[in-house]
Amino acid sequence: MSGIVAIISKKDCKEDLFYATDYHSHLGTSYGGIAISDGKRTHKKIHSIAKAQFKSRFSEDIDFINMRGNTGIGVISDRDTQPLIMRLKFGEYAICGVGYINNQNKLAKQLIEQGVVFSEMPNGKVNQIELAAKLINRGKTIVDGIQYMHSQIDGSLSLLLLGKEGIYAARDKYGRSPLVLSERNGDNIVASETCSFKNLGFKTKKFLGPDEIILLSRNKVKQIKKPGNVLQLCTFLYVYAGFPASEYEGKNVEEFREYSGRIIAKRDNVKIDFVAGVADSGTAYAHGYSHESGVPVRIPLLKYTPGWARSYVPPSQETRDLVALMKQVTADALIKGQKMVITEDSIVRGTQLKNFLLVKLWNAGAKEIHARSACPALMFPCKFLYSTRKLDELFARRILKRMHSGKHIKDVDPYLDPDSKEYKKMKKLMEKDLNVTSLRYQRLEDMLGATGLPEQSLCTYCWTGKEIA
Ligand code: SF4
Repeated sequence: MSGIVAIISKKDCKEDLFYATDYHSHLGTSYGGIAISDGKRTHKKIHSIAKAQFKSRFSEDIDFINMRGNTGIGVISDRDTQPLIMRLKFGEYAICGVGYINNQNKLAKQLIEQGVVFSEMPNGKVNQIELAAKLINRGKTIVDGIQYMHSQIDGSLSLLLLGKEGIYAARDKYGRSPLVLSERNGDNIVASETCSFKNLGFKTKKFLGPDEIILLSRNKVKQIKKPGNVLQLCTFLYVYAGFPASEYEGKNVEEFREYSGRIIAKRDNVKIDFVAGVADSGTAYAHGYSHESGVPVRIPLLKYTPGWARSYVPPSQETRDLVALMKQVTADALIKGQKMVITEDSIVRGTQLKNFLLVKLWNAGAKEIHARSACPALMFPCKFLYSTRKLDELFARRILKRMHSGKHIKDVDPYLDPDSKEYKKMKKLMEKDLNVTSLRYQRLEDMLGATGLPEQSLCTYCWTGKEIA
C-alpha cells in the first residue's frame, strides 16, 4: 500500500522524519525514501528495504546522516522508487505518494506520443510518481494540476509535494488512503498513520477530507482546496493493513478489531476450549471474541518475530510461503485434544492458512478447528491501493471457479449473501478445501458497523465489486 510523511519544523527535521517514516514500515517492503530541503537545495536518498529494514538502511547511510534541513518528506513504498525530485513548470518538487494507477500504461503512452519523456521506466513499467508529476505539470497551477491528475487516473493517489513554498499534502479524490495533520509546538506533520505521531509528541489536529489539499509552510497550515463530499476510506486498513495504534477518521484500529471479534462471538455457536488469533492482526479479534464469550484466549501458534516480515507483502508466492512456514511455531502442549476457534483478519489466498497454519495445528493433535475470518470473502482484487492480487489468487474465486466448470463467473452476487443457498454451498466447499471443522466469515454489515462510520463512507469494493465513486 505504502505510507507517507511530511514535516515542517523550526529545527532540523531529520530525526523526526526518520522515526515518523519508520512507523510506516508495516505498509511496504520495496523502498524507503527521504527528501530533505534546507530551503536552497533538496537532497534525497532511496534504499531498497526488501532485505533490510528502513531503520537499519538509513541509520548506517552517511549521506542521510549528513542531510540537514527543516522541511522533509519520507515514504515507505510497496512498489515505486520514491520520492522523485521533478522540475515542473511551477518549480522543483520532491514528490511521494500512496495509491495505484490502473491506467498507467495508457496514460504514459498518450504522454509519450505527445512528446513527453519518461526517465524512470525499469522493465518497461512506468513510475507512478513520475506519471503523476507529468500529469500535474499539465495544470495551470499546481493545485489545478493535482485535480487534473485526479481526473485522468483510474485508481487513487494521495501525494506530498515539497517545494520552495512548503509542502502540499493532497489526499486522493475519494479518500481511500488516509492523510492526517498533526502539530507539536508549531511544528507540523502530515502522515498516513497516526501511530507515527504519538511517541514524537505530535497531537492529531485534523483528518484531511477526500480530495482536500493543504499547504504546510513555516508556522502555518493553509487549506488550498476544500474536501469533496464523497469519502470511500479503505475498510481493509481497519481489518488488516493498518497498525493497531492508528486511527482513521478518528476510529482506532485495535478498538475496531476487538469489537469486531465480539460480533463474531455473538454470532457463533460452537463449544470450544479456547480462541486463538493468527498473529499479529488476528489477535485482537480473538481478544474481542473472548471478552464476549467468556472463552479463554490461548496462543498455540507463536510467531518468531525477529526477522520475519508480514507475509502478504513479499512479492513472490514462494517467499510468502517460506515466511508462512517458518514464522509460526506451535506450542503442542496447548493444542493436543483441544477444540478451538482461530480468528484471522481475512482469508485472501487461503494458501498460508491451509498449507501451513492448519496443517501445523492438526499435526499437533487439535480435535476441532473452527476458522473465523473478520471480513467477508474477498471476491475482487483491489484496484485502488494494492496492486499485487489477481482474480485467480483469491481463495473465494478459486472455489467459485471450481464450482463453475473451471471458469470465472461474472455475477457473484448470489455468493455474497450469507443466507443464500449458493453461499452455503460455496462455504461447504471452502471448509472441505481448507480442512477445517467449520468456517465463518464476518458479515459485511457487521464489519462496516464495527467501524462506527457511515457505511457509505467506506470502500467495500474488494468484497462486493461495487463502487460508489
Ligand atoms: S478495494 Fe478493498 S483494499 Fe482496495 S481500497 Fe477498497 S477496501 Fe481497501
